[in-house]
Amino acid sequence: CGIVAYVGHQNASEIIIKGLKRLEYRGYDSAGIALMNDGLKVYKKQGKVSELEAHLKDKNTKSTIGIGHTRWATHGAPSDLNAHPHFSESGDLAIIHNGIIENYSSLKTDLENKGYTFKSETDSEVFINFIEDIYKNNDGTLEEAVRLALTKVIGAYAIVIMSTNHPNQLIAARKGSPLVIGVGKDEFFLASDATPIVEYTNEVIYVNDYEIALIKDGEISIRDTKDVKTTPYIQKVDMELEAIE
Ligand code: GLU
Repeated sequence: CGIVAYVGHQNASEIIIKGLKRLEYRGYDSAGIALMNDGLKVYKKQGKVSELEAHLKDKNTKSTIGIGHTRWATHGAPSDLNAHPHFSESGDLAIIHNGIIENYSSLKTDLENKGYTFKSETDSEVFINFIEDIYKNNDGTLEEAVRLALTKVIGAYAIVIMSTNHPNQLIAARKGSPLVIGVGKDEFFLASDATPIVEYTNEVIYVNDYEIALIKDGEISIRDTKDVKTTPYIQKVDMELEAIE
């Protein structure tokens, strides 16, 4: 129901946990985070963001990139396993997803026939494996695999994807669910609304439906699902925030 992601030079887990707390008002049943620390690591917990935070206390969460999620279950009960982020079958990709993939059941059957297995009951885990399958069977980039997947997926989504093989890269996209990207100096903040972003930067891009953002090497490029490049429109936001512990 809420997403927060970061790539730059600061401690990603602090920014993400704080951001997820700012999005708590949207309502949720579980929370999770993926970080790049000696490989792609995922931590998730049913319950409050503060419970995820407590769970992270004794972990090495040092990472300058990460994705975080608060879930409002649509497919599969609220549980640690169904919480996001979700890994792909190979473990190379991790996704956070807001929204609903309506044709997930037929996609899941196709993937199961190809040997994919699923650890959760979510439509989101189907989504990331669908992307992985396209990526494996094409010569193109991961961004291109995401684009191709989005032309076949029916439903609503805001997603952010991390990849073991591209440790400094985030791929984000949306249709029907909100997604804002804050642009800092050599750093980017992604979230469902601007509240997790504005204490770091007041320059934001409101991602449009059918757009895919690739953030890599301190730069952002945006194209749409028809593979047409668009120029990111950076707007200034002015917002007062309450302090958060
Ligand atoms: N449909 C997904 C799930 O049930 C995402 C729900 C959400 O937007 O939080 O896990």
